[in-house]
Amino acid sequence: MSATAGYQRSLDDEVQYLKGVGPKNAALLAKAGIRTVRDLLYHLPRRYEDRTNLPPMQKLRPGMSATVRGKLVGIDSKQTRNGMVLLRAAITDGTGTVSLLWFNQPWIQRKLSNFKGEIVAFGQVKEAGWSFEIGNPEFELVEPEDEAEEFSRIWPVYPLVEGLPQKLVRRAVASALATHLPAVRDPLPDALKAEYRLRPLDWCLRQVHRPESDADREASRGRLVFEEFLYLQLALCQKRAETHREMGIAFPIGEQKGLWDEIRRMLPFELTGAQRRVIGEIFADMEAAYPMNRLLQGDVGSGKTAVAAAAMLAAVRSGYQAAIMAPTEILAEQHHMTFREILHPLDVQVALLVGKQTATERGRALAKVESGQAGVAVGTHALIQEGVRFARLGLVVIDEQHRFGVLQRAALREKGYGNPDVLVMTATPIPRTLTMTLYGDLDLSVIDEIPPGRKPIKTHWKRTDERKSVYDKVRSLLKEGRQAYFVCPLVSESEKTLAQAAKDLHHRLSTQAFADLRIGLLHGQMRPKEKEKVMAEFRVRELDALVSTTVIEVGVDVPNASVMVVEDANRFGLSQLHQLRGRVGRGATQSYCVLIGDARGDEAEARLNIMVETSDGFRIAEEDLRIRGPGELLGTKQAGNLGLKVADLIQDGKMLEVARQAAMGILEADPSLARPEHAALREAASRLSPEKAAVVVS
Ligand code: ADP
Ligand code: MG
Repeated sequence: MSATAGYQRSLDDEVQYLKGVGPKNAALLAKAGIRTVRDLLYHLPRRYEDRTNLPPMQKLRPGMSATVRGKLVGIDSKQTRNGMVLLRAAITDGTGTVSLLWFNQPWIQRKLSNFKGEIVAFGQVKEAGWSFEIGNPEFELVEPEDEAEEFSRIWPVYPLVEGLPQKLVRRAVASALATHLPAVRDPLPDALKAEYRLRPLDWCLRQVHRPESDADREASRGRLVFEEFLYLQLALCQKRAETHREMGIAFPIGEQKGLWDEIRRMLPFELTGAQRRVIGEIFADMEAAYPMNRLLQGDVGSGKTAVAAAAMLAAVRSGYQAAIMAPTEILAEQHHMTFREILHPLDVQVALLVGKQTATERGRALAKVESGQAGVAVGTHALIQEGVRFARLGLVVIDEQHRFGVLQRAALREKGYGNPDVLVMTATPIPRTLTMTLYGDLDLSVIDEIPPGRKPIKTHWKRTDERKSVYDKVRSLLKEGRQAYFVCPLVSESEKTLAQAAKDLHHRLSTQAFADLRIGLLHGQMRPKEKEKVMAEFRVRELDALVSTTVIEVGVDVPNASVMVVEDANRFGLSQLHQLRGRVGRGATQSYCVLIGDARGDEAEARLNIMVETSDGFRIAEEDLRIRGPGELLGTKQAGNLGLKVADLIQDGKMLEVARQAAMGILEADPSLARPEHAALREAASRLSPEKAAVVVS
């Protein structure tokens, strides 16, 4: 290796130069996103296989997940009745035999047909006559050179992508550990490691890949998770602190003497204690010189709109304009109506800006916004598009934030909107772990109280063959003057197909079960004017029921509508069902939500049962996160933005809390991470921030 003498090894080295890798293998590794030695060392095993004492086959019991090792003694394949090819390979260790089964995997047959050696297989053991079988096992052929490499130890099993062999990853990692561990610099200061009992990084990297005991490997992974969360939290907390140092608008709210009176008079109800408290928190931010960057969390129906109205009025009375942005046109139009109703009597004009307006309408709205004549602007993301200019924009409220993704004030500033205060509101009760990661740079307000006088929604789950009795019950409620939503099945991703499903359901209901009642139709393919008309009719009870796609999912507020029937409910995500259900239960009468669906499988059944059991949005969100994972819950784009390689938000929630505390402690002592022992932390944290600043508006 004289050619490389004097060469400084670095974790940024490309994997292709590792011993035993080379360009061809490097291309395979690249498929799994592994390009540098760092990528490789942080590509952690999916599970481990303890081969120190494999169970003898006679000790196997049905139901256990086990690794077995045995000599291949027989192999045969046959065609099953439904046209599949079943491959069966029998292995024995002298104490018993295990059959390994695969369906339609001709390549395995080719691989095994001339093999005379031993096989290691992992999977769930089932009883089969006098012996055992493992269906679709993970397996490896034991090659002679493996023997030399002491077979009996704890082996890592890595996540793979198609075409990337397990053995290659193992070999590359072993090679990297041999040559590159000395190049690992530990970014965590010793004091921190002592405080949180963390082992050195190089030791941990070795132990996660080549553990000597379960305890060591858990401690090692724990440290890597902590480290990853720590960087993220440092970046977020620093960003939050930065915002607090920026110059924004100090709204002179204290000088607006009659403000609270006006708020009280404009709303048709008394604010709840929680609403008053969060309005107070928002006002304090608005009065401060730094720009507000606050997340308002409140479950569906908790009354976030009233809070937004109070904040917007405060901005207007302080001499600024306010804008509120909604994720759908239907919601924007509803807000337009609501705010016009409550603000007009106070002489505050409200303008509407949505995508599909006529040129004249849009022109008029733009002029009012630009001249400052409109104190409040309501719209979809059309609000932040080219050509929109405000006279004195001071406050931006973003409703149902999850639909917009992470929208940063930086984007508003870039668009020439100055440095307004920003309030993002969300009903998606995201689990605390996600709030801390996604929104850790925002200040948080929570409405933890629902308006008084609400009766809990009664939720029922009915099978499809019970539909008729459901309809009968709904009929009698409609006859009593209630109104209902029928949500049509989530047949596909395409708006067009969804619209068709809604039309079909509408046709069926209005010609059959509900032929004598007035049934409206609403879907995403309708023109804004049509949607507006249908919603208006529904609101004034000219329609008894509304057949709709999920366009009503967020924000829609018609208190007299107290019945919801969701078709094919098993197709919806839990959080989505929770949002949908939030459309009812908004008035004083008893509300009902009927989920129609034939759940196949335990999981589907468990999901629907959770909906029946609880209306606690946080519990539902936790379950949803557990079942579907953060990617699904937030949409891949946002989950991707988290960039977590090692940590798992579900499994590692506790560690996240610990890391956040640690980050806050560090920043309290050294706000800009200027101390020499924090240099590496600063660098690691700054590597994360650009990603967080990404604007996702879709
Ligand atoms: P969300 O938080 O889901 O956006 P909304 O703001 O749409 O909730 O409010 C839900 C319903 O509750 C609306 O009909 C609203 O008028 C009503 N509401 C809000 N606050 C109160 C309150 N303090 N007392 C009574 N009703 C309220
Ligand atoms: Mg709302």
